[in-house]
Amino acid sequence: MKKALVCGAGGFIGGHLVKRLKAEGYWVRGADLKEHDFVPSEADEFVLGDLREVAVVDKVVTSDLDEVYQLAADMGGAGFIFTGDNDAAIMHNSATINLNVLEAVREKDVKKIFYSSSACIYPERNQLDPDNPNCAEDSAYPADPDSEYGWEKLFSERLYMAYARNCGLQVRIARFHNIFGPQGTWTGGREKAPAAMCRKVAETPEDGEIEMWGDGNQTRSFLYIDECLEAVRRLMESDFMGPVNIGSEEMVTINRLAEMAMEIAGKKLSIRHIPGPLGVRGRKSDNRLIQEKLGWSPDAPLIDGMKKTYPWIADQVRATAANA
Ligand code: NAD
Repeated sequence: MKKALVCGAGGFIGGHLVKRLKAEGYWVRGADLKEHDFVPSEADEFVLGDLREVAVVDKVVTSDLDEVYQLAADMGGAGFIFTGDNDAAIMHNSATINLNVLEAVREKDVKKIFYSSSACIYPERNQLDPDNPNCAEDSAYPADPDSEYGWEKLFSERLYMAYARNCGLQVRIARFHNIFGPQGTWTGGREKAPAAMCRKVAETPEDGEIEMWGDGNQTRSFLYIDECLEAVRRLMESDFMGPVNIGSEEMVTINRLAEMAMEIAGKKLSIRHIPGPLGVRGRKSDNRLIQEKLGWSPDAPLIDGMKKTYPWIADQVRATAANA
């Protein structure tokens, strides 16, 4: 039986990854600062601890592990990353976790580690045109991410690659592009656009109005969690180190995303555009490299994932209102 450690197992993607690895027959240890917000973890062992502390990392990274999945990071949606107020914490916390985990993996001689980087590493200059963003993997340099979150991810990608070169670690690096689905953060400022749109639509009565940051013509692509996990596992089983995009090529405006949520809810609402933190003007995954290296790339339509996500968020909204 293979043994894996999932760092960030109390989070959205980490929680789903634990479930996926269990379904594949792994023995799984989860580690996180907190329990999962929405469901009990399926991990065989769950360690509550702060991965910024060397002693905690030393405890969770053991030499009997076959694989480590490092997803723990201080992160959030645009409301957390782009205001500038959290830059020092984002950089310090996430870099410390990566430094600690890699060093422990080297010391304990664990052979294989997955690292979740982000589309936020791509230079802003290639993402000014909402219709033609360039997020090909080799466009990352000369580097110019639009947030300190992106700079930390780029630094850590390089750190993983340096450990691969100098210490013989097998690393796998993915650049996630806006992953969404049930059991993800849906309120509080750290939620991503699909969750925010579903929540706003679910909270607003028929004929009402929802607020949206910016003019809504900024574009993005969103990848449903199941396809994200499929890609992570395929990458891990392949001999390609990455970095490689894990995202969708279906690009939509945020206005269209809101309309999708309305269509699923069967509501017609108006949109009021207000100032707010936005990020780049356009972004979508470029899947040529993943297709070439893995012979596979995500292709499920966005609407299918939204149809699975909206009812879950509408339930959360109803439950919260009932408890208020
Ligand atoms: P998440 O916030 O739900 O999960 C991250 C988890 O890390 C949280 O549960 C958090 O408690 C934990 N964590 C943070 N600091 C910690 C610490 N010091 N010690 C222990 N645990 C700590 O985020 P997610 O959406 O599941 O993202 C997982 C990873 O994927 C992150 O590295 C993120 O940067 C990356 N990523 C996600 C997306 C996306 O769209 N969700 C996009 C790009 C990259």
